[in-house]
Amino acid sequence: MSAQQDNASTFTSKKCLHCGNYLAIDERFCFSCKKKVGKLNRKTGMAHQPINWISYIICIISWTFLVFYIWWAFL
Ligand SMILES: [Zn+2]
Repeated sequence: MSAQQDNASTFTSKKCLHCGNYLAIDERFCFSCKKKVGKLNRKTGMAHQPINWISYIICIISWTFLVFYIWWAFL
């Protein structure tokens, strides 16, 4: 018999993936290292890596520009 709680709903805190500090479940920023943290990973108790939407958008825009440029050049 294991005394370890493995029920997913028993987490009361999450761990910052940058510095390992324990944060409140609904915390969006780590107060210790000031970095953005994602939602709780219910399997590990760690915070998820937040999605970096800005770099996604910049990547998509630059690809769109590149495609348009090539399309324009061969027209
Ligand atoms: Zn941190």
